[in-house]
Amino acid sequence: MATGGTGDVASETPGGDGEDADYDVVVVGGGPAGCSAAVFAARYGLATAVFDRGRSSMRQCAYLENYPGFPAGVDVETLYGLLHDHVAEAGSELIADLVESVTREEDGQGFVVGTQDGRRVSTRRVVAATRYDGDYLRPLDDGTMFETVEYDGEERERFARSYPESDGTTPVDGLYVASPSDEADRQAIVAAGRGARVGLAVVRDARRATGYPESVADHYDWVRREAARDAEWSDRDRWREWYDDRCPDDADLDGDRWVTLRERHIDRRLATYITDDEIERRTERGQRRLLDHVDDELVLERAREIDADSVEVNR
Ligand SMILES: Cc1cc2nc3c(=O)[nH]c(=O)nc-3n(C[C@H](O)[C@H](O)[C@H](O)COP(=O)(O)OP(=O)(O)OC[C@H]3O[C@@H](n4cnc5c(N)ncnc54)[C@H](O)[C@@H]3O)c2cc1C
Repeated sequence: MATGGTGDVASETPGGDGEDADYDVVVVGGGPAGCSAAVFAARYGLATAVFDRGRSSMRQCAYLENYPGFPAGVDVETLYGLLHDHVAEAGSELIADLVESVTREEDGQGFVVGTQDGRRVSTRRVVAATRYDGDYLRPLDDGTMFETVEYDGEERERFARSYPESDGTTPVDGLYVASPSDEADRQAIVAAGRGARVGLAVVRDARRATGYPESVADHYDWVRREAARDAEWSDRDRWREWYDDRCPDDADLDGDRWVTLRERHIDRRLATYITDDEIERRTERGQRRLLDHVDDELVLERAREIDADSVEVNR
């Protein structure tokens, strides 16, 4: 079932990290928080699925005027379309289904996710990203996951916003919470940033479990200009030295696993450099892809205006 990107971590993970799971990561919720988390996890190559259905905060906004990058604002359905397209482009599955429960696998490794449409999928890690809903996490509740609050004079139980740490990790190993949380409460762009942070924490932990040394496990997703790469960092031996300098005292620097992971890390770092031609190719593709999300009539209308302007200029 897993379809994720490069499969780097999944294929390298030694026993004990839920080897036969359908997914490396299941994200519950396809709003700004969940989509951001999924983009980072899937771009790294983790087999990722996003489940999205049910009560949405974003669908209650009339129109978003403060999500940077959209100078005249963006309507909610267009933003959903862009976010979901990005999730798919990154290599994640997007499944229109409501998650009803998340339980521990019988062997204590990973989770089983149960849905409204009767799906049961297994996953190594879960990211909760549902601003209003946390009930599906009740099977994992250790007594501190929910809190009682007063609302309109009535007492209500709700998911405790202070339950996750600032990077989204929780006392339940493998469970992360992007939303709801104290750190992403009221604005969509903050929820998106929080999701990104949690997605990166998932990647970091997957890399640790795979065997990358602590000081190399942290991952940041940068694309760099080939023209800016100097001779020193074009040399694989320089990278090997850099990596070995970060080894723990007990590491076997000639061991197969150390060497395999080091070479994969170097491949990944070198692949982040792209040429000017590639930048140009990606620029055109990126702009065409944006057009897919603009109303066809508006695209044609603008094209006719541009055409008329160029005729005028050339007259
Ligand atoms: C009336 C109103 C107006 C607002 N206006 C603005 C504004 O102008 N600007 C601004 O920045 N913010 C605004 N907000 C806040 C903004 O909507 C939220 O901050 C943001 O949407 C939170 O993103 P999220 O991803 O955490 O949650 P959500 O946007 O709620 O996304 C969660 C997603 O998960 C899905 N889901 C829920 N439960 C499940 C489940 N069990 N299984 C699977 N999927 C599930 C939902 O369908 C939804 O798509 C407004 C909110 C409201 C209520």
